[in-house]
Amino acid sequence: MVGTDTRTIVVAGGSLAGHTVVTELDRRGFTGEVVWVRGDESVSPYSKPALSKEFMQGKLTAGDISLPAPPADGSRLRVIDGTLCARLDADADRVLVGDEWISFDALFICTGMRARVPAHFTGLPGVHSLRTLADAAAIRAQLDSRPRAVVVGAGLIGSETAASLRSLGLPVELVVQGRLPMEAVVGEELGRFCLERHHSHGVTTRLSATVTELSAGRAGGPITVAFDDGATTEAGLVVLGLGATTACGWLEGSGLDLSDGVLCDASLRARPSVFAAGDIANWPNPVFGGRMRVEHWSNASAQARHAVESWSADQEGRRRPAFADVPYFWSDQYGLKYQMVGHARGHDEVRVESAGGDGARPLVTYYRDGRLVAAAGVNATRAVMRMKSRIHCPDREPGPGDGPLPSGRPTRTAVTSPHVPGREKTT
Ligand SMILES: Cc1cc2nc3c(=O)[nH]c(=O)nc-3n(C[C@H](O)[C@H](O)[C@H](O)COP(=O)(O)OP(=O)(O)OC[C@H]3O[C@@H](n4cnc5c(N)ncnc54)[C@H](O)[C@@H]3O)c2cc1C
Repeated sequence: MVGTDTRTIVVAGGSLAGHTVVTELDRRGFTGEVVWVRGDESVSPYSKPALSKEFMQGKLTAGDISLPAPPADGSRLRVIDGTLCARLDADADRVLVGDEWISFDALFICTGMRARVPAHFTGLPGVHSLRTLADAAAIRAQLDSRPRAVVVGAGLIGSETAASLRSLGLPVELVVQGRLPMEAVVGEELGRFCLERHHSHGVTTRLSATVTELSAGRAGGPITVAFDDGATTEAGLVVLGLGATTACGWLEGSGLDLSDGVLCDASLRARPSVFAAGDIANWPNPVFGGRMRVEHWSNASAQARHAVESWSADQEGRRRPAFADVPYFWSDQYGLKYQMVGHARGHDEVRVESAGGDGARPLVTYYRDGRLVAAAGVNATRAVMRMKSRIHCPDREPGPGDGPLPSGRPTRTAVTSPHVPGREKTT
């Protein structure tokens, strides 16, 4: 009944995970107060994946990617925009927002990540990171002058950005710190495939290169990009895709374990009244046996729903369920859909089910101790999803946290029969 529930829930973070928590609380009929602290972006919540894809290409507008407005009735919703949660006093169950301490019965931490930008790369016009709508809009505002673009970093966001800018006809150079673009995300085989796609679309790549300095001789003039081998190049636009760091600063001193994001138990609970979800949550995933933190879209919404379920279970005296999940992400580049399921870290065998080429769809599977732990493919949705349903690793020893694929050399096997692992193997 509206008005009789005196509980207060604080939701920190105004993106996908926070939005999903607020929506899920309403869907479950929560009638207490929800205080939603949405952070320092002064825009309505939006979905990020299109920022480096359709939004950058001018195919979608900010309105197209906004998340649905939160439900107005049911729970009493107080939205706080333009302000960050500044501190958590976990012993007193209260959070500092601006100069107001807000007491809570439950807190959901959904503050995600911030772009990693080295201090010496900041402050130059024409140099952008890409994490927020404002970042993407600033990049788009520069595109009419058709600048030469240098994209620094070739993970998922850097590689997508290079593809999007190239599809608009810009001259693009992609700086790859490692040997191959996307290798840390999808592994060597698909990394090589990705490199070939960039080349066939006319992107210049600089491999095993590190940018040491960005400078501009005069206002409005080109940016000089300097590399560790002494080489330089010029650009009108520089996009930094150097990864992101967890937005945990406001939680320092709270007593929460912040060794890699917010460390939770398997149910996504960090303290009796504190839960976390999305890019910031680090939890022991029972499917793999070890802790991980997953920086992907579908994880953020699934975890947010699960965190609310865990809180509800506590409220109703039920056992909190574990968040047992096989991670998934996709990436769109040059009209191709890269997809990956599972968790490849620690794998000791790679099977190339299909190498791609001649119209074939690349598909790679990863194994550990003979068990399938991950699969990645390009334009191979059905095959990748079939692999997803086969990933079960219940007995694995806890491993280290999430991270890039190891650079070691696991066994590599070419499987001649596409999409059917384990048959007709040739080494
Ligand atoms: C350009 C780009 C492209 C992407 N493409 C894909 C893709 O193709 N496929 C895929 O699976 N994933 C993709 N992702 C990842 C996906 O968008 C993220 O996994 C998802 O946004 C995570 O949501 P989140 O709510 O956990 O965190 P975030 O999206 O990081 O949101 C955190 C929110 O918290 C706010 N905040 C921060 N600090 C505070 C504070 N102290 N107090 C209050 N609020 C705070 C922030 O302003 C923000 O609103 C992409 C991400 C980016 C940036």
